[in-house]
Amino acid sequence: MITGKNYIGSQLSAKGENVYKTFNPQSNTENEHVFYAATSEEIDEAVTLASEAFEVTRSLSGLKKAAFLNAIADEILALGDELLDMYCAETGLPAGRAQGERGRTMFQLRTFADLITEGSWVDASIDTAIPDREPLPKSDLRKMYVPLGPIAVFGASNFALAFSTAGGDTAAAFAAGCPVIVKSHPMHAGTGELVSSAIIKAAEKTGMPNGIFSNINSNGIEEGSLLVSHPKVKAVGFTGSIRGGRALYDLATKRDELIPVFAEMGSINPVVALPKALENKAESWAKTYASSIAMGTGQFCTNPGLLLGVKGESLDNFISILSKEFVNIDPTCMLHPNILEAYNNNKSKALEQPELDIVADYTAEVKPNYAKHAVATVQGKTFIANPTLHQEVFGPYSIIVQCEDMAELETILSKLEGQLTGTLIADDNEATDYPKVIAALQNRVGRIILNGMPTGVEVCPSMVHGGPYPSSTDSRFTSVGVDSIKRWVRPVSFQDWPNDLLPDALKNENPLNILRLVNSEKTKDVI
Ligand code: NAP
Repeated sequence: MITGKNYIGSQLSAKGENVYKTFNPQSNTENEHVFYAATSEEIDEAVTLASEAFEVTRSLSGLKKAAFLNAIADEILALGDELLDMYCAETGLPAGRAQGERGRTMFQLRTFADLITEGSWVDASIDTAIPDREPLPKSDLRKMYVPLGPIAVFGASNFALAFSTAGGDTAAAFAAGCPVIVKSHPMHAGTGELVSSAIIKAAEKTGMPNGIFSNINSNGIEEGSLLVSHPKVKAVGFTGSIRGGRALYDLATKRDELIPVFAEMGSINPVVALPKALENKAESWAKTYASSIAMGTGQFCTNPGLLLGVKGESLDNFISILSKEFVNIDPTCMLHPNILEAYNNNKSKALEQPELDIVADYTAEVKPNYAKHAVATVQGKTFIANPTLHQEVFGPYSIIVQCEDMAELETILSKLEGQLTGTLIADDNEATDYPKVIAALQNRVGRIILNGMPTGVEVCPSMVHGGPYPSSTDSRFTSVGVDSIKRWVRPVSFQDWPNDLLPDALKNENPLNILRLVNSEKTKDVI
């Protein structure tokens, strides 16, 4: 029986006195379920159970873990409309987005199931002994990835399914063999509890150990802080604001035992429009970017918040088309009144800056919790001199920077903070004329896009969703795609161990039939 803490609103056992409700931004009313924040005792219990569960999960076979992941996907689907309705009621997002995100969440779980069923992800590497090597004999050394231990995962406000309870961080951690304690996002606690119930059912059905998963409800920073500071937590996954991610990272540095905090945070995702592209395809790119900035009410971490071009007639024309297109887009709802308030404050702060022109501003009345979109423009030197203009405005807002020339554009790129994505809009063969722009962009980002939109993050092995600080805390890792499993493992080297005491992945007979690096050659051969 799984007794990992899953606090189902008022129905279950959470004892916290801190009670809260979620909010429906479309109807502008509170949702009816009541949630109880976890107490420090309950958080300790959840982490202790996870730590005990790790003694089992660390050596579970790929097949057993895959059965668990596939069962979670099945149970999420089995929640049916109840989950989709809850998602919509807690986020204000449309039913189509709920379905799409549920599909993505299940796809992530099944993709990790396939990865660990195949098994080569452990990156086994074997260097056999050379006993007669001169002047000293060489030992037998065999290396593979092993799981870290209990992982604390913070649900993201803007992806209630795909980056939350059973989202990418959790799927990757389970695949690695790590128990998970989720700090549910308070804006969609009900969605989190439904998904938690699916995970717990899947764990029971597939014989997972008690405590492999817990869901911690909270509506303040205390519970998350306790989790990050808990000595039995071995790593943290976070998606959200720079302020939140940085605070958790700093908190982790104060622990006796240091642990990694993988935070995916803010980004303004620069887009560079090259001169010929602006001259020849201004209309189509302007339309494309107007819709990309407004997509999902701008609540994507890959939202294009900054466009750069060289000033002149073509850029003026592009700005004029984009502005017209943009104000004609119907306003949409934000996730929560708090997110709307932050958007309005950050947008006002940006628009109040000196030497800035507002080129598109939706001013008509909107429904409660709907965002009014805006686009502004500044000269390159104004942008360089004013760091406020570099900050993310989370929502449907973007700034267009008119550079004096390509040299100034390159300077701006080189001074930008780290970003998740960078995009180049170029006409046929134009990109080859700008190697320095490409190099400057590549140096600041985790994903570099040619003639596309940064919004839309494919789940596949070649995806990088991460980037230099502050877009993430460690640019060597991705939080999307199967490689994200590497955040929750560490390499261990076995020196001179007899074959029967080695893990299966490293045994001579290669019983898992995985691809290994044997004496520097990739092979599935037995030794
Ligand atoms: P957030 O404020 O960073 O919070 C994310 C989660 O971390 C929440 O569960 C929050 O707990 C917790 N948290 C935040 N600061 C903490 C601290 N100092 N100690 C412990 N826990 C802490 O982000 P959000 O609530 O998702 O949205 C607020 C803003 O974040 C948005 O307006 C937007 O600017 C930004 N955001 C950015 C991205 C992105 O990908 N770039 C994505 C989502 C949001 P509580 O909520 O319980 O306090």
